[in-house]
Amino acid sequence: MSCCEICGGDISFYFKKNYAASPYGKLMQDWGDVEYFRCKECGFVISMTHKTASQSAWEKLNHDYHHFIENCDGSFNIPNQPPYAMQAMLLQLLAVNNIINLESCIDFAAGADYTF
Ligand SMILES: [Zn+2]
Repeated sequence: MSCCEICGGDISFYFKKNYAASPYGKLMQDWGDVEYFRCKECGFVISMTHKTASQSAWEKLNHDYHHFIENCDGSFNIPNQPPYAMQAMLLQLLAVNNIINLESCIDFAAGADYTF
């Protein structure tokens, strides 16, 4: 059994999802059902399917997904890039109002793990 990437708490099966339908069907055709696990302590959800995939399979999916997103012709309602400036402003707004603490946080799934 793995533990939570965020807090180290116990995780358990949460749900599974299949990405066989458009627009991700071709990208995910070799992956089957994706199983998500949820932390019992903090609620963080992670795809165990992706976490336990081989390095080469994960890198291929990551490359192919980004290639697909960057070259999407607009026929799918998929945003290209997240609104980074708006996200940064929201984080600052929440922090200055003491809603969240930014002294120890992680930007997870940004293409790399950045701890700041
Ligand atoms: Zn957790």
